[in-house]
Amino acid sequence: MIQRLLKTDKLYTGKGDYIIDGILAIDEDNRIVEVGQDVSAKGVAIEYFEGALCPGFVNTHCHLELSHLKGKVSQNTGIQNFIVELQKIRNASDEEKLRAIEDADTEMKLAGIVAVGDISNGDATVETKLSSFITYHTFVELFGFRTQLADSILEQGQQLKASFTEVGLNSSIVPHSPYSVSEKLFENIATQDRNTPLSIHNQESKAENDMFESGGGKLVDMMKNFGNDMSKFPKTGKSSLQSYLKRLPIETPLLLVHNTFTSIKDIELAEKMHANLYWCFCPKANLYIEDQLPNIPQFIEQAVKCTLGTDSLSSNDTLSIWEEIQTIENHFPQIPMETLIQWGTLNGAEFLGIQKDYGSIEKGKKAQINWIKENKLTSL
Ligand SMILES: [Zn+2]
Repeated sequence: MIQRLLKTDKLYTGKGDYIIDGILAIDEDNRIVEVGQDVSAKGVAIEYFEGALCPGFVNTHCHLELSHLKGKVSQNTGIQNFIVELQKIRNASDEEKLRAIEDADTEMKLAGIVAVGDISNGDATVETKLSSFITYHTFVELFGFRTQLADSILEQGQQLKASFTEVGLNSSIVPHSPYSVSEKLFENIATQDRNTPLSIHNQESKAENDMFESGGGKLVDMMKNFGNDMSKFPKTGKSSLQSYLKRLPIETPLLLVHNTFTSIKDIELAEKMHANLYWCFCPKANLYIEDQLPNIPQFIEQAVKCTLGTDSLSSNDTLSIWEEIQTIENHFPQIPMETLIQWGTLNGAEFLGIQKDYGSIEKGKKAQINWIKENKLTSL
């Protein structure tokens, strides 16, 4: 039974298009039953929303755990300085951390976000995720450069993953980045999760490519300062992505996060090597850390699947996919809004495997709808 009829000037479906003067019908279970221009129901008045409606957003990259670091890390200093600063200030009381996590979860709900892919290094977010309105997929993130520790790091990761899955939260074990994981640990992770999505920070800095191409650069210096022996690092003469992608299973959905220093050749070769890639942009975090954005139009030219993420409050002042969309729009006004909305909705839902319920305004899906009026977003 249709309970509500919502009408708007521009109805973004989430599938890369929109309906002018679109109407959607919602039933008593808050599911979408019909979408189009000629939708009506006896005895149900049409509610008109000036501006646009779009599906609830999917944030494919966040670190809820780091929420207490809002405003504490200096801007525009580059990734190696960012990591060093992060190491220094990671301490806060458990109570402070938990309050920041709860606040961040609420902030995302108010920003119209319905699902999140969240990176976790510990179990501090379990309770919040369990009681949240938002659907979470937790990426248990591992790192470690010493080969002899690879098995024990994996074991700890499996225990941490269990603390999420045992209470019914979806989770997978993932590598932090190509530069912080030994070959052995990569192998351990790759043989774990074949049916759940994977995620990795990719080409966030030029220094990451330098490390693989020449075996030198700022990240190598940083790793040495952390006490790592870099003499056996497998220098390849190729970019980071071209060097490590073959170590991950080629059919499992893989999210490449950031891609700030990814070349067109990287995109072409990666798409040939891997059957299920998603390219995630976190533009506001990129501006915060490296003060540089990826060459986003080149990803559109290659027609690859893109998603959006907010990253954490340690490198962003808000957790809002709508603000990420507006940031891209400001820098690349040639990209159509319907494309950006698809990145922030359906593509993310497909990556997380939750497209049955989320990601688009289509018959049968949950009616979690956002209203955009004069660039201001309200979650309905
Ligand atoms: Zn991140």
